Amino acid sequence: MKKKITNVMEIMQGDITKLDVDAIVNAANRSLLGGGGVDGAIHRAAGPILLEECRKLGGCNTGKAKITNGYNLKARHVIHTVGPVYSGKPEDSLLLSQCYFNSLQIASQNNLYSIAFPAISCGVYGYPVDDACRIALDTVCRFLKEEKGSVTKVIFILFSSKNYDIYEKYLKEISGA
Ligand code: ADP
Repeated sequence: MKKKITNVMEIMQGDITKLDVDAIVNAANRSLLGGGGVDGAIHRAAGPILLEECRKLGGCNTGKAKITNGYNLKARHVIHTVGPVYSGKPEDSLLLSQCYFNSLQIASQNNLYSIAFPAISCGVYGYPVDDACRIALDTVCRFLKEEKGSVTKVIFILFSSKNYDIYEKYLKEISGA
């Protein structure tokens, strides 16, 4: 029997810097030179050599993604993507969706199996979590249907139990559980 697409996805609560996966995704800013929130946590855990590699990347546009090594992280790679600052305009959702799709494409191009996402744009960038959650899970489903490639596990890791509950509920809804 064909494996259900939603079985590839897993929701977790915790700290993304602790995960032993092929790639964790960083909700970076356009400079790729580090910042607060999850970006700061990833740079602290990976060590200063991550910043050295990031300096060579020349920044990243909103919705796009770039890959580096993981250095001192358990994760082998970091995929840096830049989410939109929430403005309430229709392009927000397109850009946020591109973050997920482009990150997955980079993972697949690098033959990676497991990838973990934080709630991109849901911190200082102000994206409402309910909307961002739907975009995240719907986009991952679309990628798994259309391309998939090497990707066999997609984790969404949420810091707060409130966000965890929102993701868990929506995953149940789309998997028909
Ligand atoms: P953005 O600028 O894209 O909004 P933030 O880093 O401010 O990014 O927040 C994105 C999300 O990541 C928020 O929901 C925040 O609670 C969460 N977050 C912050 N640190 C971590 C961490 N170490 N692991 C997982 N999620 C985290």
